Amino acid sequence: MERCFTQSNYNPVQKTHYDILSVKEDASYEEIRASYRSAILSAHPDKLRRISEISDPDHESQERFLNIQKAWEVLSNSKSRAAYDCELRASRRDVITAEDVRLDKMIVEDVGEVLELFHQCRCGDYFSVDSSELREMGYSLEKNENKILLRTPDGIRSSIILPCGSCSLKIRLIIDADLSFSN
Ligand SMILES: [Zn+2]
Repeated sequence: MERCFTQSNYNPVQKTHYDILSVKEDASYEEIRASYRSAILSAHPDKLRRISEISDPDHESQERFLNIQKAWEVLSNSKSRAAYDCELRASRRDVITAEDVRLDKMIVEDVGEVLELFHQCRCGDYFSVDSSELREMGYSLEKNENKILLRTPDGIRSSIILPCGSCSLKIRLIIDADLSFSN
């Protein structure tokens, strides 16, 4: 099974990119492209400007246009679409996590290229994430002598859902802003 992580800023109540383009989640590239084209035509700012001459400027429509663009950018690329699907699936089933674990309570192992972070699951396997995966999410993790230094993108506290390597349990990894701890 592919591994995927969910960051806590995802809002499941939000419309998905699929909702915005009015396509099914298993729609083909061609179907998505066709939907995008008709959606963008009806929401184009030039067209809206003409409409707004007879009515009030419509900020909602402008936002709709941007949402359609964003949805298309993500769904038209197979790699970003796969990552988005992963995030979407995780957000739907990850409401329940087994426990919250602070990053400085994780076991850190230096495996050469990257730092691996572990936390043992009750099934015996581990929840894990490595520094390169964290970097992709915008967190920089470095080891300096015996100290682990973590920098967060906005310097704010956030969390990531980590799946267990074997079972269906998940933990919420709590990341405090700009953390330094010894291991
Ligand atoms: Zn497990």
